[in-house]
Amino acid sequence: MGLTTKILLAMVLGIAAGVLFNFNNTSGFLGSGASKLINELLVNGLFDIVGRIFIASLKLMVVPLVLVSLICGACALSESSRVGVLAGKTVGLYMLTTAIAISLALLMGTLIQPGAGMAVAGSSSFEPQASPPLTDVLVNIFPTNPVDAMAKGNMLQIIVFALLMGYAISRSGKPGQRIASFFQDLNEVIMRMVGLLMKFAPYGVFALLAKLFSELGWNAILQLGKYFFVVLFTLLLHGLGVYTLLLKLLSGLNPLKLLKKMRSPMVFAFSTASSSATIPVTLTAVEKRLGVDNRVAAFTIPLGATINMDGTAIMQGVATAFIAQVYGIEIGLMGYLTVVLTATLASVGTAGVPGVGLITLAMVLQQVGLPVEGIAIIMGVDRLLDMVRTSVNITGDSVVSTIVAKSENALSLETFNDSNYESKLSEKMASAH
Ligand code: ASP
Repeated sequence: MGLTTKILLAMVLGIAAGVLFNFNNTSGFLGSGASKLINELLVNGLFDIVGRIFIASLKLMVVPLVLVSLICGACALSESSRVGVLAGKTVGLYMLTTAIAISLALLMGTLIQPGAGMAVAGSSSFEPQASPPLTDVLVNIFPTNPVDAMAKGNMLQIIVFALLMGYAISRSGKPGQRIASFFQDLNEVIMRMVGLLMKFAPYGVFALLAKLFSELGWNAILQLGKYFFVVLFTLLLHGLGVYTLLLKLLSGLNPLKLLKKMRSPMVFAFSTASSSATIPVTLTAVEKRLGVDNRVAAFTIPLGATINMDGTAIMQGVATAFIAQVYGIEIGLMGYLTVVLTATLASVGTAGVPGVGLITLAMVLQQVGLPVEGIAIIMGVDRLLDMVRTSVNITGDSVVSTIVAKSENALSLETFNDSNYESKLSEKMASAH
């Protein structure tokens, strides 16, 4: 069985086990002794431990992988002096896809009216966090201390540092060449480390999903069914429809191939609800399976995981329309345009970790004068939506990365179109041993 199949199987089994435990918790059909054993030993014991170790091992690889891989990429890029063009195209496409996502969400939210006729829960409260002023956000992209940036996992600062270092290496003649080949070797080693950890992924995915689904509040989902399904439907529409169209229109490539090859990063994003922790998996898939050259992927993927959150924007769009309807507040056309703008910025400012989209939603609501307490209403169903939107977030990164690579002649069509990538990849791994 290939690794992707194992991971998919682990996902299905994990969800099934979780749902079963959840059902048992509410109905108690396995009896109290067995339930106690399941909850204490499995869900809060073994699954919790395995899941946490799995996320830790993914996070472990993020900083070294992004740093080293981007230094190599920037080194190759600056030789062809395409950094500016590449950055421009990437950021432009990231903004465009997010703006489409939020517009689609607002459209769905106003057409289907998920909040119409809902009563406001009286005692709900939500404390919004103050968002930092925009000037700070800009200044903070530039690191004062690379070690501090790495220790804190500050992705944008790491990207700036790696770009600068890569550029300097390519301009440093002989010493630069020596350092470049050191980083290329190091990149191989780190990729191998990611490959090794990936072997444990099926267990990690199973444990995470079994625990999450056993604790999921289905009741809340039933109560907020309309909101939940509008978000879910729009996420699927964007993930399967908009991306498919964009990829076809802007690069002429077969979108089904991309979706199929991105299955494992999608499962990782789904089970961890963190674009950031998924970076190692996304980067590997985009380079090795989609055939995007390292000089493009190493820049676009970590950047996308940090600033491109289409799924998050979708949730924020539907949530804004929903909250406006629940409180019976008209926000008008100008209000909607403000939402498009602020939600695009909010999703840039959303860190790729679980649940942050809900926090930055406060900023969007405040901007159009909606009560932030509305967030408390949707909080109960956010976890599952977070998992799905994170999958959409990272799929968006891979689509943009592929489009940019194609336009920069940095895409291996042979790899992209190759359907036997999995067996070839494992053959290569085996022969390298
Ligand atoms: N969990 C999301 C991500 O990591 C961010 C969010 O929407 O909360 O991409």
